[in-house]
Amino acid sequence: MTDPFVVVGGDAAGLSAASKCKREDPDREVVVFERGQWVSYAHCGTPYFVKGEVERLGDLLSLSPEEITERGIDLRRGHEVLAVDTEAGTVTVAGPGGHFEQPYGDLLIATGAHALTDPIEGHDLDGVHTMHGLDSAAAVRAHLFDPSVDARAAVGGEAYVDTEAVERYGRMAPPETVAIVGGGYVGVEMAEAFTAHGLDVHLFQRGDHLVPPFGEAVADRVAETPGERRHAPPRDRGRPTDRRRRGRPSSLWRRRDSRGRPRAGRYRHQAEHGLAGGHARRTR
Ligand SMILES: Cc1cc2nc3c(=O)[nH]c(=O)nc-3n(C[C@H](O)[C@H](O)[C@H](O)COP(=O)(O)OP(=O)(O)OC[C@H]3O[C@@H](n4cnc5c(N)ncnc54)[C@H](O)[C@@H]3O)c2cc1C
Repeated sequence: MTDPFVVVGGDAAGLSAASKCKREDPDREVVVFERGQWVSYAHCGTPYFVKGEVERLGDLLSLSPEEITERGIDLRRGHEVLAVDTEAGTVTVAGPGGHFEQPYGDLLIATGAHALTDPIEGHDLDGVHTMHGLDSAAAVRAHLFDPSVDARAAVGGEAYVDTEAVERYGRMAPPETVAIVGGGYVGVEMAEAFTAHGLDVHLFQRGDHLVPPFGEAVADRVAETPGERRHAPPRDRGRPTDRRRRGRPSSLWRRRDSRGRPRAGRYRHQAEHGLAGGHARRTR
């Protein structure tokens, strides 16, 4: 009987489980299917990569593919699982050599989450990014470089990165204005990253306050903190920030209530009316 532990998704959850399984039962076959090229990466560092505090994509890897293989895990990058047949105990996999059926004894689906883009009209336009994974971080950062910079060399991660996206965004004129949809911690961290590049940042949040899980008291502190930095000179690590408007306060921090407190909740109206199709092009 074929009894491999099959994992779908090669990041934090999938590889933690695969490694644990190998530790507990070294003789068991463990197969991890990852549809992309990156594995064991740190999403949490991607805003800081865009900001420039993290220099290279490779710095965001916990384990290299070679180290994973050394653990006895059969890692298959570039393999997307398309279907599960629980009756047969198989998954259908699309790999570089075509489709095949992989039997499993136990199956873990660790495919993560993704940014919700529906029903935002125009979310697929050039210049609209979602922050998920190292390829999207690379594309965003490449977009910030002046076209004279070799973006592919500058982002690093040569062995795995989506070079087509990096080169395409690297050729585009960098933005002066950025709209961020969503004021959770990722949106706030990205606001900080873009502000550090001297961009005019507008953050749209549909709730009453930023970082909703934490409540209004924390949200006010979060909104105040970048406000204190708004006149600080932008960091310049040899990257092309000089063409942009520097130190300009963003709308996030300009908006305050009658007592001068930041009022991120006011962005709800802007979110509802500011994202009609085609507007995204104006961010470039
Ligand atoms: C910008 C950003 C910042 C974050 N910051 C923090 C932070 O500061 N602190 C914190 O605790 N958490 C943070 N998080 C959340 C954290 O990154 C996630 O909780 C964590 O990555 C979840 O790991 P995961 O393995 O479940 O999913 P993911 O990391 O999403 O990995 C899922 C993997 O599955 C693959 N996959 C998907 N479908 C298939 C398929 N059909 N076949 C094969 N492979 C597939 C994907 O390519 C991906 O590699 C952040 C997330 C983001 C996006």
